[in-house]
Amino acid sequence: MENLGYYCGSYGLIEEMKIPMNDRACYFGDGVYDATYAANHIIYDLDEHVDRFFHSAEMINITLKLTKSELKNLLNEMVIKVDSPDQFIYWQVTRGTALRNHSFPDSDIPSNLWIMIKPGTIKDLNQKFKLITVEDTRYLHCNIKTLNLLPNVIASQKAFEAGCDEAVFHRGERVTECSHSNISIIKNNVLRTAPLDNLILPGITRGHLIHFCHDNNIPVDESPYTLDELIHADEIIITSAGALCIAVSEIDGIPVGGKAPDILNLLQHAAITKFIHDTQIK
Ligand code: PMP
Repeated sequence: MENLGYYCGSYGLIEEMKIPMNDRACYFGDGVYDATYAANHIIYDLDEHVDRFFHSAEMINITLKLTKSELKNLLNEMVIKVDSPDQFIYWQVTRGTALRNHSFPDSDIPSNLWIMIKPGTIKDLNQKFKLITVEDTRYLHCNIKTLNLLPNVIASQKAFEAGCDEAVFHRGERVTECSHSNISIIKNNVLRTAPLDNLILPGITRGHLIHFCHDNNIPVDESPYTLDELIHADEIIITSAGALCIAVSEIDGIPVGGKAPDILNLLQHAAITKFIHDTQIK
């Protein structure tokens, strides 16, 4: 199939799927999601994304109707049915179907699982991103991968309208993350990346970046850094399941980075090597 949707046991082309109006996603965005890519019909980092998904659901008291391994089996079965070997894999769970009411529906109402798989490829690491800066006006639970993405959507649109690739959020002077990726810097041969608190999503790819640094004796400093430190960094690195490890060349029209190409190349090489290795047909 060209693409594949799933909703609570029903399958079909995404464009043809019908969802009940009372699914709590429609009124409240009451759910959480996760997403990654596949190559050769093999889903990248599936275990880590499913772990984070269950953790996000647990943090907002949503119970899945299936186990982690049942979800992985379902996703793996669906990936085979989509024609393109390179795919974007997205899934979400919502707090069931009930007439609109803010507080939770009865506890015996089951949660709803949605999945959508469409053709998609990770980005070319040879490109460099241009960013805009945007004040981070999101709430204080950014560690939960909630469906509520309005500030992220608006920031992303602002970046698009400015001819840029991403928007980097900051709370006052402190850099948090981007609208749909994490951001780290290299300064004086040290990787600096915002700490895992409630202001950022614990990106799976950010975790890999830290591991690659450890493997290559590059020190890692997980303490907050400022906009000024961002602009004056030797390199700026965007990480996400789709971007893997992309360098930044411009922020708000100011040329940035490009001063530690050896470290950048080493980290990008590690990222793409892991992706190719893990999505190889065994
Ligand atoms: N932060 C935000 C806000 C995101 O939406 C994403 C993408 N899911 C990330 C960071 C990067 O996470 P990951 O590396 O797990 O894709």
